[in-house]
Amino acid sequence: MNRRRLLQSLLASAAWLPALDLLAGPRLLGARSEPSGDGLRLVLDLDGPFHYRTFSLSAPERLVVDLEGAGLGAPLASPAPSGPLRGLRSGRLADGGTRLVLDLAEPVRLQAFALEPQAGRGHRLVLDLHPARAPAAAPAVAAAKASGKGRDILVVVDAGHGGKDPGALGSRGEREKDVALLIAQNLARRIDRQPGFRARLVRNVDVFIPLRQRVEVARRCNADMFVSVHADAAPRRTASGASVFALSEHGATSTLARFMAQRENGADLIGASGNLPLQDKDPALAKVILDMSLNATIASSLDLGHSVLRSLGGITRLHQERVDQAGFAVLKSPDIPSILVETGFISNDADCRRLHDARHQQALAGAIFDGLHGYFRQRPPVGSLLAAIREQGKA
Ligand SMILES: [Zn+2]
Repeated sequence: MNRRRLLQSLLASAAWLPALDLLAGPRLLGARSEPSGDGLRLVLDLDGPFHYRTFSLSAPERLVVDLEGAGLGAPLASPAPSGPLRGLRSGRLADGGTRLVLDLAEPVRLQAFALEPQAGRGHRLVLDLHPARAPAAAPAVAAAKASGKGRDILVVVDAGHGGKDPGALGSRGEREKDVALLIAQNLARRIDRQPGFRARLVRNVDVFIPLRQRVEVARRCNADMFVSVHADAAPRRTASGASVFALSEHGATSTLARFMAQRENGADLIGASGNLPLQDKDPALAKVILDMSLNATIASSLDLGHSVLRSLGGITRLHQERVDQAGFAVLKSPDIPSILVETGFISNDADCRRLHDARHQQALAGAIFDGLHGYFRQRPPVGSLLAAIREQGKA
C-alpha cells in the first residue's frame, strides 16, 4: 500500500474521525459543484476563515488546492465527474493542512476566490474552472485542428534483454530475449493497426541496450506509455502464468533522488520534457511537485497494469492476480505510465512451448493491446484522436 492509498483509506475510515476534533484550525465541511458556462464551479464549504494556495500539474492534468491549517470535518465525497473535473481527492499536509487534488480531463484556466459568510452561507472557497489550452499540448491540438482529427497515442514497446543478455533460459536453452522480441513485434504491429495509436519498438533486432537508454527512448519521443515485454523464470519449474508489474514507491523514491541530483547539476530532464517546469521553483516545492507527479504516475501505471492483467487473464493463466510493484530500472520514468509484462515462465515446459507458438504470441500481444486500449479509452490523452472521438460522442 503506498502512502497515498494509506492516506485515502485512513481518511475514509470512521475510526479516524475522533482525531479530527483535535484540530484547531478551520474544517472543510464539503465540496459541491455546478456547471458554469463552458466550465465548472467548485465550491468548498469551511467552518471558519482560511488561507489557501493553488498550483497546477500536467501529464496527467491536475489542480492542487492547499488549505493551510485546515482539517477535514468529515471524509470528503468527490463531486460526480462533470465538465473538466474527473474527480477530487484529499490528503493531509505534513503541517496539518489539507491538500485537495482535482483530477482534470483537460488543462484549465482557474479563477479562485474566498467568500465570507453571507445569506445563510458560511466561509467558502470558489474555484471556477474553464477549459484552457496547455502550452505543452498546443502544437498537438493545433495539428489536430489542421488535420481535422487528433494525434496518435504513442506507445513505446520494449522487448526485454537482447544481444549479450539472453534473459531467462528454458530447459532446452530457449532464450527469453527471442520470445520477448517476437511478442513485442506482434504488439507493435497490433498497435499500429489501430487508428489513433502508434508504436515504437526500443529494439527490433537482437541487440543489447542498457536499461537506462530504454527509458530514454520513451522520454525523448514524448511517449504516452511504456510497456516492457518479458518472460519469467523460477527455480521452481512448476511456476507458470503471466504477471504485470508497475513501479513501486521505493523505486520512485530512488528515481526522485536521482532526478533531484540531476536538477542540481543543471541537467533538468523533467523541465526539458515541457511537462514539469521546475527550474524556477524552490527546491522544497519542486520536490513536493515531483513526488506528487510520481505518485500520480504510479497510480496511472497501476490502473494500466490492472487493465492489461484483466485482459491477459482471458487468454492465459495468471501467476499473480494483482499488479505487482517493483523498482525495475526499466520502469523508472517519472512522467510516463509504465508497466512490465511477464508473459509466462520460460522455465516452465508448458509455458515455454506456448511462448514459442506464433498464435499464442499473437494472442498475448492482442491481450496486452486490449488492456492498454481499454485504459486509454477511459483516459484519452489531451489532443489525441481518442479524445476527439470521445468529445464527438458527447456532442
Ligand atoms: Zn526479463
